[in-house]
Amino acid sequence: MPATPPHRGGGWEGGFFSLEELTYSLTAQQRGIENIPTEEHKRNLTRLVDCVLDRVRAEWGSPIIVTSGYRCEALNKAVGGVTSSYHMRGMAADIRPQRGALGSLFECIMGMFMDGDIGLTECYIDSEKGFIHVAYDAQAFNVWPFISN
Ligand SMILES: [Zn+2]
Repeated sequence: MPATPPHRGGGWEGGFFSLEELTYSLTAQQRGIENIPTEEHKRNLTRLVDCVLDRVRAEWGSPIIVTSGYRCEALNKAVGGVTSSYHMRGMAADIRPQRGALGSLFECIMGMFMDGDIGLTECYIDSEKGFIHVAYDAQAFNVWPFISN
């Protein structure tokens, strides 16, 4: 097994992402939807940040923008998300690089996955809408057990 990269593993403190940016939604704001995660959702978002997002951000080396993170049921409906979406459980994020090509970030993520540096349950690139969807569910798809918590 490859060694896991140095990682603080401590949630949001000192990391690259905030709970606010993982829950913010312009659509929710415009439509008056209260997109508030439960404690369980927050725990899942913390795991997503620890096991995927912070590691990818560190490897990528420049800012990554979250275009969609947690979605409550109403918001998920409003954006046309699938009913079983990991976004509704706080286990998924759509991201794009602030600088650099979307495809390059996708290659970076795939490389990390192949090397065992991150776990992924879902990952795809939507070039048209300009984001990469990543989901991490430690229970359902424990491909890299050494990084689950
Ligand atoms: Zn997504």
